[in-house]
Amino acid sequence: MAGPKPLIAGNWKMNGRLADATKLANTVSAFVRALPSTSADVLVCPPFPYLAPVAQALAGSRVRLGAQDCHAEAAGAFTGDVSADMLKDSGCSFVIVGHSERRALHGETDAVVQAKANAVLRAGMTAILCVGETLAERDEGRTIPVVASQLVGSLPANANSENLVVAYEPVWAIGTGRTPTVAQVGEVHGAIRAGLSKKFSDGAKMRILYGGSVNGLNALELLAIANVDGALVGGASLRADAFETIVKAAPRR
Ligand code: PEP
Repeated sequence: MAGPKPLIAGNWKMNGRLADATKLANTVSAFVRALPSTSADVLVCPPFPYLAPVAQALAGSRVRLGAQDCHAEAAGAFTGDVSADMLKDSGCSFVIVGHSERRALHGETDAVVQAKANAVLRAGMTAILCVGETLAERDEGRTIPVVASQLVGSLPANANSENLVVAYEPVWAIGTGRTPTVAQVGEVHGAIRAGLSKKFSDGAKMRILYGGSVNGLNALELLAIANVDGALVGGASLRADAFETIVKAAPRR
């Protein structure tokens, strides 16, 4: 059975300046325009201050706009934070939550990540919920239980295949140039699929992205693995040519 239409999401993190962001958005928009409608869905997630100008650059394009994080509350005294509704107002339809850099550098627990995912759903957007094991956890043979426990702790209750995407991102593969083997990716994605299918009526249709050092050279192999429904791409999403190669490597549906 063919899976869901793949999604290729670029996480630009805290990189580039305004001119870089709009130039990259224009280039992505141009190459996506030339692709057939059966090619992957494409998403870019710029830094907060560049959401509005990138939204403008993407106007009329089928490239979607996403944010890299949000606050769980709708409003209030949260200096420096941004609510899901504000992101929606800025043109976003996706928000990444629980990225390992947020979990590790900002102390975000599963409960915090779940509250953020709920906020994204309440605002009518799609949450990209990131999970993944550290190298120590993998070496201890705990990958599957760690990922399962992150999912139990952070999945929003009212999720469906329209408003939730899961991203499996082994922490040790992010930004390192190292990737798991095909068998390792297949094992974890299979386990995530089983968990989603058990919990949600349309879990079989939910997109599960792989993330961690995806590039123009390994994308074809990674995107062909069973239950891999796209990629969350960091470093390579900043280079339009590499990002285009990854988008073109996704199966057409
Ligand atoms: C990420 O940060 O989500 C990521 C996958 O980064 P990279 O592709 O650079 O490993």
